Amino acid sequence: MNDSFAKRVARAQQRMSASDLDALLVGPSSDLRYLCGYDAPALERLTLLVLPAEGEPTLVLPQLERPRARSAQADGVARLVPWGETEDPIELVRTAMPPGARRAAVGDRLWASFVLRLQAAIPEVRWSPASEILEPLRARKDGHEIDALRRAARIADDVAVRLREQAVIGRTEREVAAWIGAELVERGSDRVGFVIVASGANAASPHHEPSDRVIEPGDALVCDFGGVLDGYCSDITRTFVAGRAPDGFDDAYSVLARAQDDAVATVRGSIAAEDVDAAARDAIDAAGYGDLFVHRTGHGIGLDVHEAPWIVAGNKRLLEPGMTFSIEPGIYAPARFGMRVEDIVVATADGVERLNDAPRDAAVLS
Ligand code: ZN
Ligand code: ZN
Ligand code: ZN
Repeated sequence: MNDSFAKRVARAQQRMSASDLDALLVGPSSDLRYLCGYDAPALERLTLLVLPAEGEPTLVLPQLERPRARSAQADGVARLVPWGETEDPIELVRTAMPPGARRAAVGDRLWASFVLRLQAAIPEVRWSPASEILEPLRARKDGHEIDALRRAARIADDVAVRLREQAVIGRTEREVAAWIGAELVERGSDRVGFVIVASGANAASPHHEPSDRVIEPGDALVCDFGGVLDGYCSDITRTFVAGRAPDGFDDAYSVLARAQDDAVATVRGSIAAEDVDAAARDAIDAAGYGDLFVHRTGHGIGLDVHEAPWIVAGNKRLLEPGMTFSIEPGIYAPARFGMRVEDIVVATADGVERLNDAPRDAAVLS
């Protein structure tokens, strides 16, 4: 395991040298987990990995968290430099910086309170975002990562299949969401990532927060949820109808299902991310629902539920084997209904593999 972290560190260092960066500073985040396997808590006490362009990384961390970092085997990747409660961790970071450093990249999710202190303590350094180095590395998953995503997706599929047999009429969105969350854990997720249950007019809000609204006959029901397994995320959306479909739903749903299929089918060879978005959008536009598809077609997924590559118009980046992302077109008719179908897919050498395989039809729930 440490071997693959060493490889990731080496690849990051290669990119740093090519970009003329002297150091990369990463706090608690999926970036840190990617580089050294340590899922550090993001708290007011500073934890920071200092990765020089050459040589061994240093992990500055609170003394009380050293056992936690050790049990994650972070000491196999980086030299641990613990700081006691009355010490100044920023000073330890300054010491760990390569001598004469002029340019450094800082983790996109490091708290501003730490970045501001670093900038004040190391004024000679010019800062840039670490994503410029790490995003392209993280976007292409290795076999172990794809396997973790596949296992995570399978659990989400299991829940989606069971959901088709649930009675939902008379239950609140919050109750259905609680059931989904419990099932995600019951079926093997380490934890729940998020759960969206949106019914009736609420389904027209893509990121609706489950409410106390009681599900009624004639509602569309958008269920979008994911768990986390070994650090890797799942994310699936299925749309159902309660009792019967609302007016206009069936026609729009057949368009949506075709759009999702079309977009998945475009993933082969060297295709740009924006072309996958265009495939879904063209199918929806052609049927006259274009104004109701109000978001991008998808996002990458891995240690973060939303990460590169972004499947959106204007993103000319070519999709490569090993990239994992969602394909999730939606149609949202304000005050009436909403619908979305989402699968995670992986681009392969000769096309695409869907990691989600639960039935995609809009099942009628009682
Ligand atoms: Zn979303
Ligand atoms: Zn989703
Ligand atoms: Zn998604």
